Amino acid sequence: MNNINKIKGIGPKKAEILLTELGIETVEDLLYYIPRKYIDRSKLKQIDTCENEDIVTIIGTITKIVLTGSKRKFLKLTVSDESGILEVLFFGGANYLKKKFAQGDEVLFSGKIKKGYLPQMIQPEFDFAEIGEDKNINTGRIIPLYRSSETLKKAGFDSRGFRKVIKYSIDNFLKTVHDKIPENLNNKFDLIPLKDALYKIHFPESLNDTELARKRLAFNEIFFFQYYLSLSKEWLKNRSSKTLNKINFELYENFINSLPFKLTNDQKKSIKEITSDILSTHPMNRLLQGDVGSGKTVVSMAASITAILNGFQVAIMAPTEVLAKQHFENFISLMPNSLSTISLTGRLKGKKREDLLYNLSTGKIDIIIGTHAIIEDDIIFKNLGLIIIDEQHKFGVNQRAKLRAKGNETDLLVMTATPIPRSLSLTTFGDLDISSIKEKPANRIPIKTLSFSNEKISGVYNSMEKYIKEGRQIYFVLPLIEESEKIDLKSAIERYEELSTSVFKQRNVGLLHGKLKNKEKNEIMKSFKNKEIDILVSTTVIEVGVDIPNATVMVIEHPERFGLSQLHQLRGRVGRGEHQSFCILLHPNKISQTAKKRIETMVKYDDGFLISEMDLQLRGAGELIGNRQHGHSSEFEFVDLTIDENLIIEVKDIVDDLVSDIKNIDLAYSEIHENKFSQIFWGIRKKKVLSILA
Ligand code: ADP
Ligand code: MG
Repeated sequence: MNNINKIKGIGPKKAEILLTELGIETVEDLLYYIPRKYIDRSKLKQIDTCENEDIVTIIGTITKIVLTGSKRKFLKLTVSDESGILEVLFFGGANYLKKKFAQGDEVLFSGKIKKGYLPQMIQPEFDFAEIGEDKNINTGRIIPLYRSSETLKKAGFDSRGFRKVIKYSIDNFLKTVHDKIPENLNNKFDLIPLKDALYKIHFPESLNDTELARKRLAFNEIFFFQYYLSLSKEWLKNRSSKTLNKINFELYENFINSLPFKLTNDQKKSIKEITSDILSTHPMNRLLQGDVGSGKTVVSMAASITAILNGFQVAIMAPTEVLAKQHFENFISLMPNSLSTISLTGRLKGKKREDLLYNLSTGKIDIIIGTHAIIEDDIIFKNLGLIIIDEQHKFGVNQRAKLRAKGNETDLLVMTATPIPRSLSLTTFGDLDISSIKEKPANRIPIKTLSFSNEKISGVYNSMEKYIKEGRQIYFVLPLIEESEKIDLKSAIERYEELSTSVFKQRNVGLLHGKLKNKEKNEIMKSFKNKEIDILVSTTVIEVGVDIPNATVMVIEHPERFGLSQLHQLRGRVGRGEHQSFCILLHPNKISQTAKKRIETMVKYDDGFLISEMDLQLRGAGELIGNRQHGHSSEFEFVDLTIDENLIIEVKDIVDDLVSDIKNIDLAYSEIHENKFSQIFWGIRKKKVLSILA
């Protein structure tokens, strides 16, 4: 590793700023500081050829600079090229920007054209291209722009400044870069050498170059990340920390026999996989995935009983109080009476809480169910053996590691109803074993999904009335809480008022949204469950896990505002009982093509796994690097899931093979944890590595 001060022009002061602002400490860190965007100068336009709404790049000379607006808060530049005149407006940081520009400066502006008396660009990207810069840096037609901040800019690190120091690093230090990826893989996957990639990512000659470079760097990320996950998994398998007791399975068998339904084959299989983990000496690290309504809760009960019979306590964590409450009630009603189960939320205070903590620490309590309140520091178990996390698809690798550290290599079961594409599950859940429930309980009737334009709302009201008469209940879901002036959306409150005062005034209409207090939410859910409410108007707070089989109709207004997976999740609140269920998507006439596709997909398909794949595809093949948002995952910098899906899947097998050849897993694992990771796998930025290990 080369300290950043080896770069010409970077002294202690600038080094300090790079470190605090960006975590850049070494020349290598700087090489991995990738452009956030490129400007393609071949797309340069003459001002007078720009049409309204065109997104263009122009290069022109500044002829006038003024502060305008009521408090002189806006900066207006007049810019001209040989063809015409353009007005450029900035609203933020006008004073600061004013100092940056000078009359006669030749500047590149990139943004959307608004045609008026003079064509305008508002808040465009800008760059002092050629001026005063080393000719070599910018003779290409693609110009990289770098992320910066006020502090960085003041220290000279605007895009131009970054180009300069990065160019210097490449000229002097690129030769020291070592690629740790086995040579044969480069050939197999058609990858350009790492050195070329680092060069091209900063100074591409074409946009094709940036994609070649991105793919190479993405490969490193995929490779080492999966290597790490695979290694962790092996390492955990080598632990043997649990003491196993001779178990009398009577309680367990009584529980299974007393269930009011017959388990599906997938439930049985999952239970078997999970209990055999619990009854082995190595810690369990398992994901239970199953579509909404597939019956994961009962599987978690079987797991809990097994752990308790083996002498352990169980902690069950749900993302919301509503859900924790529901789990608690389910456990109380289905689990053997001899077990002591309690619920804990953030609201429990004082003596009651103290008593509870005491009983937990003496082992009097077998199962604790709650929100994240159950993993707070002062919660001490006598012998915590199993942690179950429900609906936690947002939990990342590092958070799981933290949680695991709470118990002494405790068994961990994560449950999710959000099916994710295989590529994503390999990266997010690559350190977990996976059990899947694919079949639904046999008594289920497939949900009928229909879509209408919102002019048909009175027809929808008619059928709602019909189902209420038959004794059913209805969810009515909207994306917003309060009326918003800006966006023309029907809000939940507005819709609630309309339904409760006119159309359905003879019916009981309830309102549920995220701004209510937890207590109010619980009460509303309770009355809905008790059939005291016919129509529950709600925002997406009902999204996760809620189980009310008598609710058979879900109307979703503005479905175009939701993602595909979210729509599927919402729909999963119905179709849970013996009656035919319906999901009605009520959309405006004018919606985008992709929104239309999402709605069509919902109407056509009901399989969550299939829908998750469609979702990824619909989010579109990634655009240019640095400008991608679609297939981006927080775990990665370069990987684009919409493009690299196959790569991830292929690399997984290779990595598993490599790990299985390692003789001393403990050593390999501890090397990573002693922070040699960046030296061993010098392809991932250090900061990323640290966040993985944190
Ligand atoms: P999810 O997987 O979405 O968490 P739940 O565990 O809440 O699903 O189960 C949904 C509903 O199905 C519950 O009412 C549960 O009692 C019921 N259920 C679970 N397994 C079966 C089964 N094998 N047969 C019939 N009903 C079942
Ligand atoms: Mg559930």
